[in-house]
Amino acid sequence: MALLINVATGDEVIVPSYTFASTANAFILRGVRPVFIDARIDTLNLDERLLPDLITPRTRAIVTMHYAGVACEMDAIHDIVADRSITVLEDNAHGLFGQYRGRPLGTLGALAALSFHETKNFPCGEGGCLLVNDEQLLDRAEILREKGTDRSRFWRGEVNQYTWRDIGSSYVLADPLAAILLGQLEERELIQQTRMRAWKRYMQELQPWAVTHGVTLPTVPPHCEHPAHLFYLCLSDASTRSRLIAHLASQGILAVSHYVPLNTSPFGRRLGGRPGQCPVSEDISKRLVRLPLYNDISDDDIDSVLESVTTCPL
Ligand SMILES: *Cc1c(COP(=O)(O)O)cnc(C)c1O
Repeated sequence: MALLINVATGDEVIVPSYTFASTANAFILRGVRPVFIDARIDTLNLDERLLPDLITPRTRAIVTMHYAGVACEMDAIHDIVADRSITVLEDNAHGLFGQYRGRPLGTLGALAALSFHETKNFPCGEGGCLLVNDEQLLDRAEILREKGTDRSRFWRGEVNQYTWRDIGSSYVLADPLAAILLGQLEERELIQQTRMRAWKRYMQELQPWAVTHGVTLPTVPPHCEHPAHLFYLCLSDASTRSRLIAHLASQGILAVSHYVPLNTSPFGRRLGGRPGQCPVSEDISKRLVRLPLYNDISDDDIDSVLESVTTCPL
């Protein structure tokens, strides 16, 4: 992404604070200064209302990350950048097969990145994919992917030999991993049904408990369809969360939190981030926990999690 939009040292890219390091790394590697943007308290996506104050003449791109596969407010974001030369990008690691106003996530920015890491809905060990929605970037994307050569054109018979044409690296997925990934994608319906069933059971069956215990369940705006990537709870405070995690662990259930906001992480601070800069991310990061959600989760597994959560003395 960063290579394709030609960012350089001194440019700025707006990245969410509440996300994984990979969202920012691609740009940092090109010498870009990350500008951290806080999250909305409802969807935990970047808060688009903060964008006007963060945009400067050096802003080259805004990286949206659709947390839990629930879309960022893309129309509002596109409106804000409309008459400026700022590219909207998508980190769609969570959102494959999610939708925003009936449009698939990953088709809403000039470029979008997918992840097939083992923690995602469609894992192949390690791997990813770049979706190119801006046709003007397509030819160059093929070259960067193939070590800077026009090998793709050679394979298609468009040139007699391939040669070094641009900067690049080895971004192709190894064949064995691609085979594993294809197997997952062929089982898309089953994987998505199983995950969605677990997600919906958590959502429905935890509702009464959440209300009486001051716990917040995920918000999904009516114009968003999510792909059941993760299910999270926001507890009232950090110590309540620790008690819940410990209680689940004592019954053999692994529940984990995330993310350390990028602006307060050790490296984020070296890049200019500071505590207090993104109060919503910093608050949520202390209170959020994810419940088990995986591709072969069974009804019995879900029953155990529900039982354990609702009987935890908070
Ligand atoms: C998993 C993930 C990524 C990609 O991680 P890689 O390990 O680099 O594939 C990027 N952003 C977010 C928000 C993620 O959760």
